[in-house]
Amino acid sequence: SNELLTLKNLKQYFPVGKDRFVRAVDGVDLTINHGDVMGLVGESGSGKSTIAYTVMGMYGMTGGEIDFEGEVFTKETKRKRSMKFRREAQIVFQDPGSSLNPYQDVRSILSLPLKVHKVVPKNEIDDKILEILEMVELPADFMYKSPNSIGGGEKQLVSIARALCCNPKFIILDEPTSSLDVSIQAKIINMLIKLKKEQNLTYMFITHDMGVMRNVSNRVAIMYLGKICEIAPTETFYRNPLHPYTQMLLSSIPVVSEEDETIKPKAVECVGEIPSPVNVPTGCSFHTRCPYKCERCTKEDPVMREVEPGHTVRCHLIDK
Ligand code: SF4
Ligand code: MG
Repeated sequence: SNELLTLKNLKQYFPVGKDRFVRAVDGVDLTINHGDVMGLVGESGSGKSTIAYTVMGMYGMTGGEIDFEGEVFTKETKRKRSMKFRREAQIVFQDPGSSLNPYQDVRSILSLPLKVHKVVPKNEIDDKILEILEMVELPADFMYKSPNSIGGGEKQLVSIARALCCNPKFIILDEPTSSLDVSIQAKIINMLIKLKKEQNLTYMFITHDMGVMRNVSNRVAIMYLGKICEIAPTETFYRNPLHPYTQMLLSSIPVVSEEDETIKPKAVECVGEIPSPVNVPTGCSFHTRCPYKCERCTKEDPVMREVEPGHTVRCHLIDK
């Protein structure tokens, strides 16, 4: 089949005090096909990174299922991941400064996964490291540099190089450019696009930047307070955004060209800030900010409905 990763009713609740939970991820269904760049978009606190960490087995899970090419991980399998999964699924974190050990040089950082997964015989490790550095266009002498002595963009390239060591199929990119200077963000994005083509990769691309999302992803899922509220192919999403929250996010992007002006959806003004995930509003969790809310919205949580092929929306307005 064409499916690489399928999340079924994924739940991640964290206890806060007695008998209370943050429902960080609350029943997420999502399929990523081979070759996709699935954009996962939402404000901070919407649960994007929690999905990433749960998939990678950094957390156990509260409920649901993670299916990676037929291998299924559940609450019962806890944080355990197979060697195949650990080789083929990788993650690049937001802040390379804290995800790379400053006391190791790049050679030690990259040789660890090569050894653990026996990617090449021991005497070929240095050659392999040079090959990987070349893939991310870093010079050979970076082998002996430490993360402390290089810039933020270069550090992120080292993190990307580390993710590439085991010839992965799938990489989760968790806001890979948001800790970097604006001047180097485009360079990293272009590198990721190039690598995806060259290495036949599939990405889950987490961002809160709608502009970046549009440049890199072929499908997009919008998250709000632990739930997905709209999924669509990127083009459909710009042509026909249906969830009021999606419309709000889109109307906040600055218009940069005439073409953009023509596809800009009607501006939607939403009130207030994102509520605390400890106190998720009843009914549709977006109702406290939604200009279209009605009585039903405050009581009944809408379900995901398919409105056209590949385009699903969670909103009572759709339910006619
Ligand atoms: Fe707004 Fe109601 Fe739709 Fe929620 S269900 S997004 S409150 S119209
Ligand atoms: Mg995050």
